[in-house]
Amino acid sequence: MVNVGILGATGMVGQRFIQILDKHPDFEITALTASSRSAGKRYEDATTWYLDDAMPDSVKDIIVTDTDPTEVSNNVEIVFSSLPTENAAIVEPKFAKNYIVASNASAMRMKKDVPLVIPEVNPEFLDLIEIQQRNRGWDGFIVTNPNCSTIALTLTLKPIYDSYDINRVYVSTMQAVSGAGYNGVPSMAIVDNLVPYIGGEEEKMESETLHLLGTLDGSDVTNANFGLSASCHRVAVVDGHTEAVFVELDNDVDIEDIKNTMKNFKSIPQDLNLHSAPKNPVLIREENDRPQPRMDRNTNNGMSVTAGRLRKDPAFENSFKYILVGHNTVRGAAGASILNAELINKTIL
Ligand code: NAP
Repeated sequence: MVNVGILGATGMVGQRFIQILDKHPDFEITALTASSRSAGKRYEDATTWYLDDAMPDSVKDIIVTDTDPTEVSNNVEIVFSSLPTENAAIVEPKFAKNYIVASNASAMRMKKDVPLVIPEVNPEFLDLIEIQQRNRGWDGFIVTNPNCSTIALTLTLKPIYDSYDINRVYVSTMQAVSGAGYNGVPSMAIVDNLVPYIGGEEEKMESETLHLLGTLDGSDVTNANFGLSASCHRVAVVDGHTEAVFVELDNDVDIEDIKNTMKNFKSIPQDLNLHSAPKNPVLIREENDRPQPRMDRNTNNGMSVTAGRLRKDPAFENSFKYILVGHNTVRGAAGASILNAELINKTIL
């Protein structure tokens, strides 16, 4: 068993980490950290539990500590970070001196020597770890996963990108409120409403997707070479981001071929049989009214992205469009970090 800790354990994503890691075959939670507001309390007393499943008994009595490496036992090998970005920027490098940090926060994502990884998409970016340790003199290292809406989009684009020449992609998102944290969007702002702006989200989707589909050569990543434009919106759904995706290829498209390419997509996590890897990263639904967040977000424990309404786009040449749903705090956050850590555990540790 590998001892693991969770930084920011009392928050929305922190609770998902706890839920997914409960009874994990390889990882055991032995450390939980949060802000000084929570430090010194039993986890059960420090936390307002938001998830449908009950809080696991195994974490209730763990004493929450400050998010400081000196407070965390050095028996811990991996820390999962679900800290606010501004805090992560300061704290994650301190932890990386001695621990493996698998982070959800965006603070370190686009640093040149920090791998931004989706295990099914660009596992080879983990080669940056050696460079990072050499550059920074750390015994540990930081690995990040992308933003929640980027992960879902990129998982569906990867099989298409590998088989066809993509010219451009437009994506319009309808994102769940849990993506902003428990106190992120006031109910008065979102009930009976839609908020057509999520700070920094469009820029993240546009830059991270092209980076993830890019090529690593030594220490340099060359981005994928197609145009990508995102428009991001908050809707009154609790969990599960929906995205309307429009793809233009260089050549004519056969929609059945595209469907099969997505449906048959498998990669290293499936070959290695990693514990959290879904059998199929992308599922295709044929009904006209699917996918829907409430019905499809939990597919394969929330680790698969569901796509549907795959159809030719009659408005533009060589184009098709589809809708996808991905669970933003599972595949888009905690589950993504855990899958990164499972890949590292199997291939590097
Ligand atoms: P959240 O619910 O607000 O939780 C934040 C956590 O960080 C809590 O445990 C909080 O502890 C702790 N914290 C706050 N300030 C701190 C400080 N100064 N020092 C140490 N710990 C502190 O946020 P979240 O939704 O879980 O998001 C966490 C991170 O994941 C963010 O960077 C977010 O961008 C990223 N992310 C979220 C999603 C999503 O769908 N929610 C998806 C991808 C990535 P206290 O309880 O003690 O305040």
